[in-house]
Amino acid sequence: MRIVVPAGGIGGARFLRGLKATLGIVSGQESEAAITVIGNTGDDITLFGLRVCPDLDTVMYTLGGGIDDERGWGRADESFTVKEELAAYGMKPTWFGLGDRDTATHIVRSQMLAAGFPLSAVTEALCDRWRPGVRLLPMTDDQVETHVVVDGDEGRRAIHFQEWWIRHRARIPARQIVSVGAEKAEPGPGVLEAVREADLVVLPPSNPVVSVGSILGVPGVREAMEEAVVVGVSPIIGGAPVRGMADACLSAIGVETSARAVAEHYGPDLLDGWLVDEADAGVEADGIEVESRPLYMTDVDAAAEIARAAVDLGLRVKERRA
Ligand code: GDP
Ligand code: CA
Repeated sequence: MRIVVPAGGIGGARFLRGLKATLGIVSGQESEAAITVIGNTGDDITLFGLRVCPDLDTVMYTLGGGIDDERGWGRADESFTVKEELAAYGMKPTWFGLGDRDTATHIVRSQMLAAGFPLSAVTEALCDRWRPGVRLLPMTDDQVETHVVVDGDEGRRAIHFQEWWIRHRARIPARQIVSVGAEKAEPGPGVLEAVREADLVVLPPSNPVVSVGSILGVPGVREAMEEAVVVGVSPIIGGAPVRGMADACLSAIGVETSARAVAEHYGPDLLDGWLVDEADAGVEADGIEVESRPLYMTDVDAAAEIARAAVDLGLRVKERRA
């Protein structure tokens, strides 16, 4: 079975760890089941001359066993000496959590990019070390960056998504969220092929706007997915995101923070099935099959059960269509 998962950071990575477990995929071993992850690169940022890809790295570290599980991002057993030394030189920004171990990843990436390798090849090279047990493809090799339009003392301006998210904790209202460069971007190598060959596309409980939304915004990706059987897992439970500030992103695009509104935002053209939490039992969305079950990924087993439910729902939809 071939499954494609467009994923952001923490929510995507934790779901993928469960999906691997439920399909019996062990990192570094052959398996009948194959997962292709289309990673969000809209969060990417250049800091101190280093190219940082937070969502690709979160997926790679989580599935490769290198993640700091408590934080959900960055390396386990991390220190922040480089960050402190940069701050001592007065280097800005100081708000980004650049860890020492993590920095090695960014150095390798930046050096390969400077030598002319596309991000997809760089990601493959980094995964040679981490062996995540999935094929991790950046959504595009082109530069696409999410920027957020906010009001400030000097009027309206656009800031990088990371500045809004980390520095301001998404507390400044977002007037607009823009995927800069998206309209001219092309899907990364293998992305459209993977979607066309997929038995199932599963949307993990990633941020619907700045994670899954960015991936769907690469021209051709959403269109390809509309042809596939697509099921999704709600990142919203009982009217609030489980973790993070996805509500601030949804408000910015005029979508209510609810499991139903997110399903309707994806729309029946894309989504065939939708898993909501028990707290949202009874939710309906036109043209989409909705099922409720516990959706808290408290540990790998819980995430595996959610992933199993998503795959089962997808296969049932598929059977009915055949
Ligand atoms: P980011 O790039 O690190 O922000 O991560 P993602 O975009 O992949 O995922 C963020 C989303 O994951 C948030 O909107 C959360 O609501 C959702 N999320 C995190 N943990 C859980 C969980 O245990 N269950 C569900 N259903 N959603 C979760
Ligand atoms: Ca992200």
